[in-house]
Amino acid sequence: MLQFLRRHGFQEGMQEIKRSSPGETGGFRRLLARLRDVMAGAGGGQYQLDKIVWLIAKEMMADVCSCYVMRAGEVLELFSTVGLNPAAVHKTRLRVGEGIVGDIAAHARPAALARAQSHPNFVYRPETGEDPFQSLLGVPILRGGRVRGVLVLQHREERDFADEEIEILQTIAMIVAELVVSGELVGPQEISNAGDEISSSLPARLGGSALNHGLAMGLAVLHRHQLTVREMVADDPDRELERLHTALAGMHSAIDALLAASAMMGGGESRDILETYRMFAEDRGWLQRIHEAIRTGLTAEAAVVRVQNDTRARMNQIADPYIRERLLDLDDLTNRLLQHLAGRTSVADGVVLPDDVVLVARSLGPAELLDYDLNRLRALVLEEGSATSHVAILARSLGIPVVGQCPDAMIRIESLDPLIVDGDHAQVFVRPGDDIQAAFAESMSLMAVRERLYAEVRNMPSVSRDGVAVTIMLNCGLLLDLQHLADSGADGIGLYRTEIPFMVRSSYPDVSAQTELYSRVLQQADDKPVVFRTLDVGGDKMLPYFTAESEENPALGWRAVRIGLDRPAILRQQMRALLRAAGGKSMSMMFPMVAEVAEFDMARRLLDMELERLNADGLPQPSVLRVGVMLEVPALMWQLPALLKRVDFLSVGSNDLAQFMFACDRGNPRMSSRYDPLSPPFLTALRSLVATCDSASAPVSLCGEMAARPLEAMALIGIGFRTLSMAPSAVGPVKTMLRSLDVARLRDYLTTLYRRDDHSLRDKLRAFAKDHDVII
Ligand code: PEP
Ligand code: MG
Repeated sequence: MLQFLRRHGFQEGMQEIKRSSPGETGGFRRLLARLRDVMAGAGGGQYQLDKIVWLIAKEMMADVCSCYVMRAGEVLELFSTVGLNPAAVHKTRLRVGEGIVGDIAAHARPAALARAQSHPNFVYRPETGEDPFQSLLGVPILRGGRVRGVLVLQHREERDFADEEIEILQTIAMIVAELVVSGELVGPQEISNAGDEISSSLPARLGGSALNHGLAMGLAVLHRHQLTVREMVADDPDRELERLHTALAGMHSAIDALLAASAMMGGGESRDILETYRMFAEDRGWLQRIHEAIRTGLTAEAAVVRVQNDTRARMNQIADPYIRERLLDLDDLTNRLLQHLAGRTSVADGVVLPDDVVLVARSLGPAELLDYDLNRLRALVLEEGSATSHVAILARSLGIPVVGQCPDAMIRIESLDPLIVDGDHAQVFVRPGDDIQAAFAESMSLMAVRERLYAEVRNMPSVSRDGVAVTIMLNCGLLLDLQHLADSGADGIGLYRTEIPFMVRSSYPDVSAQTELYSRVLQQADDKPVVFRTLDVGGDKMLPYFTAESEENPALGWRAVRIGLDRPAILRQQMRALLRAAGGKSMSMMFPMVAEVAEFDMARRLLDMELERLNADGLPQPSVLRVGVMLEVPALMWQLPALLKRVDFLSVGSNDLAQFMFACDRGNPRMSSRYDPLSPPFLTALRSLVATCDSASAPVSLCGEMAARPLEAMALIGIGFRTLSMAPSAVGPVKTMLRSLDVARLRDYLTTLYRRDDHSLRDKLRAFAKDHDVII
């Protein structure tokens, strides 16, 4: 309770918050109740909004409170204000992305600015008369995962806003969202973003990103999981808690039933995913936050949505696709809980399905996918989603193509539209004509031949046509990823990203929790090798319980081994856990983002201390200890002679290495295809690295995304890499490519390419593959 009170600004010494938040313990609840009364009372939407804005300004002691509502064409219109010039209402309009208000809407995240007018995004609108107001707190008005408007507080004086104030305003914005979508402020057509302008019955082609390969046809089934939460404020928190527990119990047994069904289907994959799912469902931090929200006076549904909004806001701040996807799982679980609160067991409940279903969704969790009849499911189209999402992993195991990041799919596709999903070229054909359908039917029979080929190579040796053996390893981050070790035919784990388990937890795992986790990884890997990478956090991969200063260039900032060396206790605890987990057997670990030999030496000294400690504790030393570094920082390329004397192996992190070589942000979609790693400078650098390692007899592998793409993997093998580590789904295609490749010929051909001045060698390598029957 104390923590909760603090979170809402009722903390001793927090004068600033006390001054500007609704006063005492019951204050916030009272404000919620008054807002509810306004919403339930008489008067039209505009009258209610004006009253709400007035109430918020009064209770939060703000000089200004304004509400901007999203209109068609992505325009935010000032709908109500207390404190700004009333003449600006319905006149001041800002595009999404324009000004601070537009920026809040564009990123769907709050802004708290002590000096708003000196912010680079500030745009001055003279009609509002906002000159005297210095500080600004704005939050997006979210509903159904979309931004419906922006709620803003302003103060005359420069002041900082506490996190607690931001949270309060976010909760209030949820209630305002109900009014915004009620149809009383703007027409229902505009709210549902009906998109009649863009949807039509004409054929269309939608582009996206390929999350799973393959080709399929079927009829569209639109997955709409967002339930409307009508009652936001409750009088009896105990009753709401009781409702929450009943719904949770129902949800747990439904997940258990899914687990049992998936076990019966022999689905190791889906079972593991659901186990993770159950782990989330039992996450105490998540439940605790819902409890706390109920105690503020929200209904169970509203509390669940409130916590969901937080998760989504967190999601927006995290660029790492893997972590975002874990948060999407949590989002999925939240939707499921809302279904149970509404007395339904799943979204698919009662939906009549065609024989060939192409499921279209904004985002989808793995369990939601399992709610549908899998025998009818042919493909999946998502507006969001990434290759590391559980739903994509699951779709891969079901063998269905997935196209993700397909904007407006839910608007442009209508229920039961015929669709062709081309997971290889990341495109979806909506209502295709007969000629297109005929062309794809032909491709589908060719695809079927290729699928059979991948399945056949699984247990065949990974050796090229001219006898060059290549070790194929997996990249993993969660326990459930490990089961691919058995079913993919890979030789081991080339990269275990230890930060992933840290990031899905709500508190820092101590040595014994880490030891248990790493032991389970080793146990599941059986006798296959596992390379553990020590914590690679910082930059965009922040831990929820680890606060660091914000940095202007986080990718170049305090991250990975730099944190470990500056906070040796963290690194030593992880090393201790890894050594204990080895339990006298072999252990391989590597350090990320090492930029100079001296950093490796420091990390190694910490490891030596831990080895001594292991001894002192009477625990067995690892039978073999292999210590390596990730080559991700170009500077390390010029320290190889010294480095190779010290390390047992190198692993190239091509994602970061390319980012730093080309000075090109790996997370920026604008830059994603600007430079090509299949280019003379990058391949030359890798070639010289491999040559140096070979002459020092030092093992070198590559574990970035390059290794997962058959054409890139081909080039890497031609350069001289003999170990590649990749996502599980890439093993079949890469192995198939390898088995059709003559490495000596490619090596000779590559020597003619290194000195060229082309932007990219991609076309040339593709032509080589074609001319030499390499299957890519
Ligand atoms: C890389 O940088 O290539 C790598 C494998 O590490 P991560 O993608 O986790 O940064
Ligand atoms: Mg990296």
